[in-house]
This record gives sequence, C-alpha cells and structure tokens, in this order.
Amino acid sequence: MSIHLTYREIGAILGTQIDSDALIEHVSFDTRQIYNGAETVFFAFKGQFRDGHDYISNAYDSGVRLFVVNTVPADQKYTGAYFILVNDSVKALQELAKHHRSKFRGAVIGITGSAGKTTVKEYLGTLLQGDFSIVRSPKSYNSQIGVAISLLGINPTTEIAIIEAGISEPGEMESLEQMIRPTIGILTSIGSAHIHNFRDKNELIGEKLKLFQRCEKVFYNAKIDLPTSDKFIAVSSDLIDLYTDPKSYTGVLGENLALALACANYFHISESKLKRAIQEIRPAALRLETFDGINGSLIINDSYSMDKEALAASLQYQLAISGKRKRILLAGVKNSEQRQLVEEVVQDFEPVQVHFIEEKDLPKIDLSNSVVLVKGDRSLKMEQFASALRQFKHETFVEIDLNAIRDNLQFVKSKLPAETKILSMVKASSYGSGAERLGLFLERIGVNYFGVAYPDEGIELRNAGVTLPIMVMNTERSSFRLCIENKLEPAIFSIEQLDEFIRELIYMDLTAYPIHLKLETGMNRLGFRKDNLSALIDTLQSQPEVKVKTVYSHLATADEPDSPYVRQQVELFRQLSQKIADTLHYTFDRHILNSDGALNYPEYHFEMIRVGIAMYGISSNPIMQTNLKPAIQWYSILSQIREIGPEDTVGYGRNGKLENGGKIAVVPVGYADGFRRILGNGNGGVYINGKFCPTVGNVCMDMIMVDVSNADATVGCLVEIIGKHQSIDQLAGRMETIPYEVLTSISKRVHRVYLES
Ligand SMILES: *Cc1c(COP(=O)(O)O)cnc(C)c1O
Repeated sequence: MSIHLTYREIGAILGTQIDSDALIEHVSFDTRQIYNGAETVFFAFKGQFRDGHDYISNAYDSGVRLFVVNTVPADQKYTGAYFILVNDSVKALQELAKHHRSKFRGAVIGITGSAGKTTVKEYLGTLLQGDFSIVRSPKSYNSQIGVAISLLGINPTTEIAIIEAGISEPGEMESLEQMIRPTIGILTSIGSAHIHNFRDKNELIGEKLKLFQRCEKVFYNAKIDLPTSDKFIAVSSDLIDLYTDPKSYTGVLGENLALALACANYFHISESKLKRAIQEIRPAALRLETFDGINGSLIINDSYSMDKEALAASLQYQLAISGKRKRILLAGVKNSEQRQLVEEVVQDFEPVQVHFIEEKDLPKIDLSNSVVLVKGDRSLKMEQFASALRQFKHETFVEIDLNAIRDNLQFVKSKLPAETKILSMVKASSYGSGAERLGLFLERIGVNYFGVAYPDEGIELRNAGVTLPIMVMNTERSSFRLCIENKLEPAIFSIEQLDEFIRELIYMDLTAYPIHLKLETGMNRLGFRKDNLSALIDTLQSQPEVKVKTVYSHLATADEPDSPYVRQQVELFRQLSQKIADTLHYTFDRHILNSDGALNYPEYHFEMIRVGIAMYGISSNPIMQTNLKPAIQWYSILSQIREIGPEDTVGYGRNGKLENGGKIAVVPVGYADGFRRILGNGNGGVYINGKFCPTVGNVCMDMIMVDVSNADATVGCLVEIIGKHQSIDQLAGRMETIPYEVLTSISKRVHRVYLES
C-alpha cells in the first residue's frame, strides 16, 4: 500500500485540521498487521467481535502516531499522537478510499454477483498480469471495509484495479459505487444469497446494477435474464472453447472463466497469452495449506504463483499467524527480476529471513520455532519443498477448516445481542484441534476471552503468543505461582482455594488480580453454593488482592430444548450472582451458556457465553446442526491390500474372517490414534471412495484391517474416518460415546493440517 498523504492532507479529507506534514503510506485496522508504524494511520473500528479502540495503546507502541477514532482516549500517555475524531470510522476509511480512487486515471473493474466474485477476480488477475500492472482485492475481501482497503492498495504504477463488491442489503451498492466508480463491470450470477433482504429477485438485480452506472462496458453471465445492449454484453461459457479443451472447465467454473476471458479480450490480451495464462489458473479458489513441519516449524504451502500482490498477501498471512515465532520465506524464483521483486516486497514485512531456491536442494536452515512460507511460481514445483519439510508423524491426519470455525462462531453470535462477549473454550488442545493454532486464529478473528481446563494449557497459549485474557478452570496451590507469572486467571470454586490464592498474591505483592467465581447451581460439581456465599462475600469485601472479573455457572441439560431444569439453574444463578453484585463496589460479567446453551437458550446470554463444540460444527440440536459447518475431517492413507480366502483369518485372536473370501486393506490408524477398539469386527469402519468398508478382526494399536472387496481401493488412496460420509456424530455413535470424546481422543501423534482461505 502507498497512499502517500501527509497528516495534514488526511486531516483535511476527514474534516480536521492537523499541523504536521509527516507522511503516511499505510492504513491499518489490525495492530498485528502493522509493520511500519510511523508511516501508518490506524483506524479504530467497533467490530462485531472487538473494538479497535482497545488496541490504540498497542498501535501507539508499534510507532503509530495518527489515529482515526470514534472517541478520543482519555489517557495522557499518547505524546506526539494525533487523533482525528469522526462519527463513524468505517465511513472515514471509505472517504479516504474515495479520495485515493479519485486520483487514479486507470481502469477500475468492479465485480459483483451472488457467487463467483473471488474466482472471477483471481482468473482475471492471472489473465491480465504481465501485460498490465494490476492490483486486486486480496483474498475474498468484499465487505464495506474490504473494498476501501482494496482501493487504498492502488499505487502510482497501477494500471488496472480489480475490485470485488458484495452487498447484503438494499441501498449498500450506492455507497460502494461512489467509492469504487468502476469503469468496467462484471456481473457473475444472481443466486438466492441475501435475497430475503430484498423484495424479490428484480430488486436484487436492480441493486447490483447500480454498481455499473458509470461503466463503459459490463460483462454479465448469459444465464442472467438481462437485455443485451452496446454496454451490456452477455457472456456464455462457449467462449472458453476457443482457448481451452472444453472439458477442463465446466459448470460454474466455466462461466466464471468465460467472464474473465471476455473482459481480458476487451483489454486486447493476445490469444496466445490467454491460452498460456489459462494453464496457470488454479482450478479452485485460492487456498493456503498449513501444516506442522520438521523441527517444530509450521509450514505454509503457497506454491502457486509469484506476483507482487500474491506474495504480499501470503506474507501478510504469515505475519498474522506467526505469534512469537520467527518468519522464514523460501522463495522460488525464475530469474533476477523475480528475485528483485521478492526483495522489494519483503522489505515491508521485516524481519523475514529469506532464502532463495534456485537449485534442486533445500538450503540448510534452522527451522526451529519458525513459520515457513514456501512460495514460488507454479512451474517451479515448490510444493515438493513444502512436502520435504512436512513432519511425517504418521500417515493419518486431521484436517481443520478454520473458515468453517469462523463461520460457526459467527452463526452462534448471530443468535445473541451484538455486545455479548465470546469466551472460546480451548481446553484439551482446543478439543484436539491444536491449542497454538486455534488460539492465535481465534484471537485474530476477535473472540474476547479464552477458557482452558488446566494451567499448562494456558501456558501453552501464552508461549504461542496469545495475549487475550485466559480463564483457567482447575487450579490448585501448587500452580498458583505459574498462573500469576503467565497472567492466567483462575476460576475460584471454594473458600479454601480462594484463601490460598490470596496468600500467594500477598506474597507477590499484587492487588486487584482478576479471578472468576464458579457458582454451583445444579451440576453438583465444583462451585460456591447458596449456603457458603456469605463467607465468600466477606472475603471479597476485605481482600483487595483479588478482583472478580466474571461470575459463572454451568448447565446440566443445555442440550435439551425447553428444559425446566435449565430455567431453575438460571434463576438460581441470577439470584446468587445478584447477591454478590450487591456487595461489591465494582461490576463484573456473568456467563452460564455453553454451545448448546447458546443455541437452545439464547435468552440467557448475560454478558458472555462460553463456546466449545459448536466451533467444530457440532450441536445436539438438529436444526442448529444444519446451520453449522463441519470443521474437522480425519483421514488416513491405505497402506496395503491383500486377497484372502474363506478359510483365512485376520489379526489377533484370529477374529477376522470373510465368509466368501475377498480383499482386505491395511489402514494405519489404530486405538493409539483414537480409533477405539470397540470399532473392531465390523462394529465400525471407514469410507474409501464413498463406499463403507467395515473393519475385519480386532483393531490393533497402530492399524486396522478393513474389507475392501466392494470398494474402489488402491494402495495410497485416501481413507475417510471422519468426513463427508461419516460424521463425527455417526462415528461417536459407533463408538458408543459422544462427539466430545471422539475429538479429544484423537491422539497427539495424528498429524494436524489447517485450511484457511
Ligand atoms: C467445556 C466447557 C464449556 C464448553 O462447552 P461446549 O459444550 O463444548 O460448548 C463451557 N463451560 C465449561 C465450564 C466447560 O467446562
């Protein structure tokens, strides 16, 4: 980004006089992505999950001196900083974007439609690059903020900007149009997404067309019912037959590619270039794969393209997930020009250790505690280097879809008032998904709090670089010191425990240390009851060492809709927490809902909820279940196939037999991985190419044998344990347990792979 405006100029655009001619090049609204604070203006947004105003101090510490805010902080510590006070900081960002756009004389391609915007944008980018210097919205940025950030990415060398514009409500497009002012338009499709916000389809189409008011040409999917004119050009997917083997792009992908080709034709890209560029196009939407690498490293495999913008986007992602780890770039470059490009882009992300790969061999690098980005042009086959760095624990792996987790959280949140805080329960390695990655990811998307079961789990999060507050549910005297040193906040469930904790705080000379009170309202586990509340209150009133941050309780029957027991527990919770509130001179937050509680009883949200299993797409409520996305898949790789006769037996105890003989496959997953022994002898099984393959004989520690007589199975093929065909719920049923136990008993040696786009 290089917006190249002085403080004074930005002030003038936003209606405030500032007497400084210091220069701003970058815009940020996420303090973790600030790399040159002195040249960055920070916009504080009140987001759905977090309030940017809480991060002003962070931004200041990163060197930022120009802020756009809704409220000026009272703190006097911000010497040398300028605050521009606005009513709406998102609108202010858009004003700045509008100004930046108005100075640009090149072409702006505006893409809208219900689906396919990102794909068309990526395709078009690939077709145009080389002939033109382009910027395009990074990833699927298409919200009101994303469009502004994309436009601000236009720099002095840009010739074409490709911008996605998504809308969900009537009236939104007008303001987007004024900001983007596209000169060329693309309309991808009209589906039913967001249609409930509009009177009918025509109103939705009409709203989308507003983007194209000032366009000289608009390319639209011929399937949309619109009249063709000089300005509006219908594009059918037949167009791609001229450039490619017709079978390689069918359906929606074909329609999207055709739109990109029609637009590229308009910019006179040669036929031979288009044919070549199509070979470069990634068939599906851009996806980054992250996995554990050797020496405790984390590998990001993005070995697809190597242009300036894609590299910057990947480095940005690396920065966002790196926490305290060092960052390494393994860059595959074809020539000195590309090498120069890498060196230039990397400057913005210092410190990054860069290694160029020109040979067949990997350089010797210390990968410990690092995040390695493997990036290069597809022709360089960089994925082989990424694979070489993969830590092969075991051929069995769990795939964790971070996008699905984000969507699931958003869905839970949509049931509650916007100000309700979210505590993410990341105990037990975040339900087996990996505490470090999940912790950093959830912090990045803006949850408010973390909860863990034991201090070790909290320390793991701190070591990874998590800075959010962390509540620890089980602490005892021996771990108090560790908790305090790591800023972990204990849940207090008894007077004895509280006394011991206070003693430690006195010893360490600390006051107002945050604690959480656990109330017993019906689980009959840990917690303060009605009858020992007065002793608790006495202590809280007389001991300044502790300060109650939250008061909580836990429901026994949250999974039963309309349970009288829930109402009884909530009523008791309300009474007890009120009693505490009445005696303290400060306020605290209350929470009682877990995932199912939030979905079945959203009215009992209080100030915060605690979400665990729903993040992974699981709810006991079947209606809610359909709104959640499965986030966890578990696979293995078939290792061997053999034929057996009717008299042969398989495995320990000779329990396995196939009555008529057949084919048996060995799959490297056993009870030590979490594939329980109860699943043996046909009680459970796996899916191979969509066919159920029951176990034959007993489950071994490290492997199972399955019947593949009727399946299309080959050595090395993918074996689904949890996925499209076998849900966690179904596997849990076969194991005679619940999804929680399935997830948390997938053992550590099973490799975790993270997907995020
Ligand atoms: C684990 C746990 C949660 C999260 O429960 P889910 O059903 O996974 O949402 C909430 N509160 C407490 C006290 C817990 O122990």
